[in-house]
Amino acid sequence: MAKTLLTFVCLIAGVSFALAAGPDNWGGVCATGSKQSPIDIMTNTAMYDSNLGGFTLVNYNTIPAGVNFTATNNGKGLTISFDSNVYNVSGGNLPGTFTTVQFHLHWGSSNYNGSEHTVDGMMYPAEIHFVSYNTKYPDIGESLSHSDGLAVLGVFIEVGASENQYYEKFLDQISHVMYKGNETTFSAFNLMDLLPTDMTKYFRYPGSLTTPTCNEAVTWTVFNDTVKISQAQLDNLRSMKYNDSANIVDNYRPVQPLHDRQVKASFGEPKTTPPVTIDGVALQISNVVLLLMLLLTAALFH
Ligand SMILES: [Zn+2]
Repeated sequence: MAKTLLTFVCLIAGVSFALAAGPDNWGGVCATGSKQSPIDIMTNTAMYDSNLGGFTLVNYNTIPAGVNFTATNNGKGLTISFDSNVYNVSGGNLPGTFTTVQFHLHWGSSNYNGSEHTVDGMMYPAEIHFVSYNTKYPDIGESLSHSDGLAVLGVFIEVGASENQYYEKFLDQISHVMYKGNETTFSAFNLMDLLPTDMTKYFRYPGSLTTPTCNEAVTWTVFNDTVKISQAQLDNLRSMKYNDSANIVDNYRPVQPLHDRQVKASFGEPKTTPPVTIDGVALQISNVVLLLMLLLTAALFH
């Protein structure tokens, strides 16, 4: 009995390893770095930092004249890009003023996986990233080689009962960018509507891009408050194609070692309750492992 259980535990570990095989083969800083992203945010060890105040967002809450967005299927996901020096982010103890040039999403094949960051071992169904570079550098290319080069705002996405009309303003472009290489231009909309209602509560840590070349140039902000989209909207993301036979799903990098980094929090009592999915079931891997260990112990000492 004990041997069977042990085999089962090893099997689970093996499956997890196989799923992570892609990103594990990335070279360079992706493999050797010590400030890689994403990470698991452990809410009980995140340290409150009173310097983490509110953000100043320029033009996020307007629809600037003459601005267009471009939606792209790059074979790895959906990216919405736009000109620099229109939308700016500062404050929040960021090291400078950053100009936003794109946002993109990561999602899973089920509602139990998809986000890049995890909270106390828990994944959300999706995560959206707003990418900005430091205006002290001439362009995003130059900013990639500096530790204060980029600021990314990350927001967890949950599944809610109703359609998110604001997210639909770009999700309705998916039919035009179904295949890798497709691109379409559409009118700008209010970016603030994509961000969580409460932007004062967030986690902060120094990290990296989550795709090669994994530059350790990112000041990460991950909001505690989440946004919700409908199941149909999440399914629309999953309908995007890598090629004729493969859909784009599970386009997230597994969490990376924290090493000597300290995750900071802008608030005193980080959220500790697990996120609730639409069917009310929350899967926490650590609990499954704990249960298996208890069963194994019980079997050994029976
Ligand atoms: Zn990302």
